[in-house]
Amino acid sequence: MYHHHVKLILLALGGLLLIGGASCLSQQSRHLCGINELSTASLRLSPGSEVVFPGDDDFGAVTLRWTNFSRPTYSVAVIPALESDVQKLARFATACDIPFLATSGAHGFDTTLGRVKQGLEIDLSRFRAVSIDATANTLIVGGGVRFSDMIDAVYAAGKEISPLTTSPEQDHGTGPCVGMLSPTLAGGVGRYSGLHGMISDQLLSARVVTANGSVVTASATEHSDLFWALRGAGNNFGIVTEATYRVFNLTSRIIVNADYAFSPNASAAIIDYFASFGDNTPPKLALILFGKYDANTKDVSNMHTISATHPSPTHLSCKRGTQLSLWVNIVYAGRLVELQPLLDPLLAKVTPYRQNVSEIPWSQMLYYNFFGATPSAPAACAAKGLDRDIYGGAIKSYDKREWNRFIANFSSFLRGADEASRSSIFFIEQFSKVKVLQIPDEETAYPWRDITAHLYIYVNYGHGDEKSEVLYSARKLPRLRALKKIWDPENAFRFAHPFV
Ligand SMILES: Cc1cc2nc3c(=O)[nH]c(=O)nc-3n(C[C@H](O)[C@H](O)[C@H](O)COP(=O)(O)OP(=O)(O)OC[C@H]3O[C@@H](n4cnc5c(N)ncnc54)[C@H](O)[C@@H]3O)c2cc1C
Repeated sequence: MYHHHVKLILLALGGLLLIGGASCLSQQSRHLCGINELSTASLRLSPGSEVVFPGDDDFGAVTLRWTNFSRPTYSVAVIPALESDVQKLARFATACDIPFLATSGAHGFDTTLGRVKQGLEIDLSRFRAVSIDATANTLIVGGGVRFSDMIDAVYAAGKEISPLTTSPEQDHGTGPCVGMLSPTLAGGVGRYSGLHGMISDQLLSARVVTANGSVVTASATEHSDLFWALRGAGNNFGIVTEATYRVFNLTSRIIVNADYAFSPNASAAIIDYFASFGDNTPPKLALILFGKYDANTKDVSNMHTISATHPSPTHLSCKRGTQLSLWVNIVYAGRLVELQPLLDPLLAKVTPYRQNVSEIPWSQMLYYNFFGATPSAPAACAAKGLDRDIYGGAIKSYDKREWNRFIANFSSFLRGADEASRSSIFFIEQFSKVKVLQIPDEETAYPWRDITAHLYIYVNYGHGDEKSEVLYSARKLPRLRALKKIWDPENAFRFAHPFV
């Protein structure tokens, strides 16, 4: 079945010393580049490593991705066990000019990843260790860690970190299965950004395998130029094998997850509600609006949504079967009694046809969102292998007229859609930028601290056809390109939204 997903963000991310690139390879050593003859022995990988070829039983599982749309293809997948294995693989691939990708959660949807054709996958799934030092307030993770790997451990230590978000799609979400490093390296949009900044703002240091197979530590005090680039454009600079993050005492052990489903007649009131926060979404509040097909969408008789100044689209049906459902997810880093005054302005205007408001442990956040669409980490990871084509956009403020037009068009699209097209969705993420803006722009490569609601553009939410300026900003590109010449002169890391 073909699933066509539209993510619209309307507002506003050793052994073979072949150092020096393919040109340095002698004719004699060229035979070492045969990708189809690779073995742990030929690469001198550690005994715990594995080499998997397309004919092997587990090749499909090892190379499975969240989306098949414009996906990378591989002639071989290698599962390294040690950092030294990753070094050998990077050296080998760079020297032989073999397209390669290190993978963690395999949720990257950037279409430029599809330029890896018959390449080498470096599967980091054996780099998923997690350790916490509650006294030092640090979390150390392996480069292949997924969000679900560390959430419980962080919570058990009485700590928190900004987690990513999840979306329900075909009624099951996949967020917990997303790798932790890739979002971090792109900047990292998360619900706790109002409290702790971007996910990358919590990164303290990273061990990075560079294109020539060296390993360096990047932090504020070591290779600080690389550390700057890692926090916003990091997918283009190396393979992180281990990362240290700052964690924080829990703002509240118990938080609120509130989910509401509205008919499209509520759309004007919802967008007024989002817009009412202006640039000042409270730090503890995270709002997501998610639009999807729902055969059971229905009007609720007592709702009164049409504001005199901003009429909602007139031709939308209020009857059962309208089919576009607007889900509002609200996460609040505190108790319901504190959140209630922030909910009242919305609920005074519109009545959901379905709701679930729960006080939950912080660690359960990703599993409660959107009416519990993601029951568990294994369920999240089981939702891979579909065709998903994602587009993004970013805005700093809401244009009500555009919004109304969009809702009318999307609604009518869903009404006429076949079953596969009905799986199209859109969503808007509006998180507080209080802490994000406290960190000076020049401190990291991440360029879009002033976006009000993360309706992309931001590197990891990009489609793949955007200009580099749109993703990285004209202001950051000169320094990024200069650093690229130092750290990756062969441009081996050129498949995730490349900028050279
Ligand atoms: C359901 C879903 C929810 C999402 N939610 C958020 C969100 O809340 N906030 C947000 O900011 N983004 C979010 N994203 C976007 C996400 O940041 C990107 O899709 C990201 O690239 C996925 O990382 P991955 O490790 O799962 O993917 P992969 O496909 O494994 O990797 C993607 C890219 O990152 C590189 N990479 C992976 N691991 C490493 C590493 N250890 N060192 C160096 N490079 C590495 C890969 O080489 C590749 O270029 C979401 C995506 C999905 C599909």
